[in-house]
Amino acid sequence: MAMTMPSEPRTPAIASRLPEVGTTVFSVMSALAQQHGAVNLGQGFPDFDCVPALVDHVQAAMREGLNQYPPMTGVAPLREAIATKVARLYGHAYHPETEVTVTAGATQGILTAVLALVHPGDEVIVLDPCYDSYVPAIHLAGATAVRVPVNAQTQRPDFAALATALKPSTRALIINTPHNPTGMVWTAEERQQLADLLRPTDVLLLSDEVYEHMVFDGRSHISASGHAELAARSVVISSFGKTFHVTGWKVGYVVAPAPLMTEFRKVHQFNVFTVNTPMQHGLARFMADASQADTLSAFYQRKRDLFRTGLAQTRFKLLPCEGSYFQCVEYGAISDLPDDDFCRWLTTEVGVAAIPLSAFHATRPATPLVRFCFAKKDETLNAALVRLARL
Ligand code: PMP
Ligand code: GLN
Repeated sequence: MAMTMPSEPRTPAIASRLPEVGTTVFSVMSALAQQHGAVNLGQGFPDFDCVPALVDHVQAAMREGLNQYPPMTGVAPLREAIATKVARLYGHAYHPETEVTVTAGATQGILTAVLALVHPGDEVIVLDPCYDSYVPAIHLAGATAVRVPVNAQTQRPDFAALATALKPSTRALIINTPHNPTGMVWTAEERQQLADLLRPTDVLLLSDEVYEHMVFDGRSHISASGHAELAARSVVISSFGKTFHVTGWKVGYVVAPAPLMTEFRKVHQFNVFTVNTPMQHGLARFMADASQADTLSAFYQRKRDLFRTGLAQTRFKLLPCEGSYFQCVEYGAISDLPDDDFCRWLTTEVGVAAIPLSAFHATRPATPLVRFCFAKKDETLNAALVRLARL
């Protein structure tokens, strides 16, 4: 019998599941900022720490021996704290047993929701621009992403365009308020328009509300869970990373009506199964003081105002910022470079890292825009402003 000779070990060639995707722009820009010692206003994370009490609670939980697998859905005290918070702020009572699940950050919540609820061949609508994980999540589910641009004049949801995009094959719509990167915050009227639009359909709503506690100038966060009709068809996603300045802990949550949550959990249990125990207990104990997140809007509004006042002295043109911790600016008066080249130049030559808006669009926007993150110490923002004022 002929024997095949051993040859050089060979990794089989594979077709990519995400051929259009590289490393995310956030990782790329943070690495470039570090390499060049630039002030990093690119990737969205605070450069200050969480309050010590939160770390104390986590540490206490570890020392108490709360270090083994928690329930698949999340520890009961945290699910209860989440349900209590959502009921208090938005008036919808989710059942902590059947309608709340703790996730490994919002990213896992979004991917798991899409994989659980969307079938191959379905269409999922996203608003353009949108956060960079949505379209790959839709593609991994074998579905088609339909990008509906926001209104070019107002930069707000375009309900006429959404109505045109809705088809029998539309399974879901993903929205995000407050919005990354534009800082746009949905109004109650817009939420009502959305409810009216979806009423005759079976379209699910995935509402990414990770910046729910950062809304400015007296606005309120308009949650899908705060509208009974929308809540019945919605999966609402949030993140403790944003709210408590602990992006590296990667803990978030999803709330949804029980029939949707049942399907979500089927995927969740084979995706991560569950999320680390001591962080969950620490967060639950911290949230027992109900007011923890209530001052966040004022905290970030002051930073937004400091940063905007400084930018007003530069040649950047400010766009509105109603919420989130991002400020978008137009740089046409400074450079003709495309936005990704401009961000590289700004990082390597000026020493301030930013994110190109094209990362959130299907095609490069006509207006040259970049995004700065102002979740930074005042001294960091001031150091960046000194450099930006030279342009
Ligand atoms: N959605 C949006 C709009 C975000 O900006 C982010 C992260 N910045 C996420 C989801 C992911 O959040 P997490 O870090 O909790 O996974
Ligand atoms: N969501 C953060 C941002 O928009 C980054 C998170 C990430 O790096 N994936 O900057």
